[in-house]
Amino acid sequence: MSVKPIRLFGDPVLRTPAEPVRDFDTELRRLVKDLTDTMLDAPGAGLAAPQIGVGLRVFTYHVDDNEPGHLINPSLDLSSEGDEDDEGCLSFPGLAFPVKRAWGVVAKGFNMYGDPLTIEGTELLARCVQHETDHLDGILFIDRMDSAQRKAAMKAIREAEWFDPPTRPRVRVSPHETRGQAF
Ligand SMILES: [Zn+2]
Repeated sequence: MSVKPIRLFGDPVLRTPAEPVRDFDTELRRLVKDLTDTMLDAPGAGLAAPQIGVGLRVFTYHVDDNEPGHLINPSLDLSSEGDEDDEGCLSFPGLAFPVKRAWGVVAKGFNMYGDPLTIEGTELLARCVQHETDHLDGILFIDRMDSAQRKAAMKAIREAEWFDPPTRPRVRVSPHETRGQAF
C-alpha cells in the first residue's frame, strides 16, 4: 500500500498542465500503483497524477465496482449528447455540484506498459474520464460550471474547513522617508 497525500484546491500543482509520459518504465508503474492505492483508500472514482503532486499525464479510475483502471496520455472523443449530474473532486473534499459533461466518451491512450488502450464509457465513467483528463490540463470542475453555479460553489469552498486561502500579495511601504530620492 502506498497512499499519498491528496493536494487540495489552492495548491498550484492543480493549475499546472501535466507533461506527456515518454518513458514507460518502473517509475511510471509505481506512479500508477500509488494513484490506484490513493484513489481506493480515499475512496474516489478517479485520481489524476497532479492530485498527488506529479506533473505527468496519467490518471486512474474505479467506477461501478469494476476493476480499477488507468490511462496514460489520453485524448478524448466526446458525444454531442450532454449529461448533467452532481460531481465531486478529491481535491475539494466533501463538496459536490451539478456539472454539465458529454454523456459518452471514447478515450485513447496507453497502459503502463506502453500498449495502446481505448476506454469507451457513458454517464459516470464518461464523466470521470472527462474530469480526470481536465486535471491533466490544469482545469478543475469549477471551470466547467456556469457562472451562477460557480459562484455558489466558491462560496461553499471558502466556507469549507479544509480551505486555506492563498495569501494575497501585500504592498509593503518603506518606513523610511525618502523625499522622492529612492532608487
Ligand atoms: Zn478531481
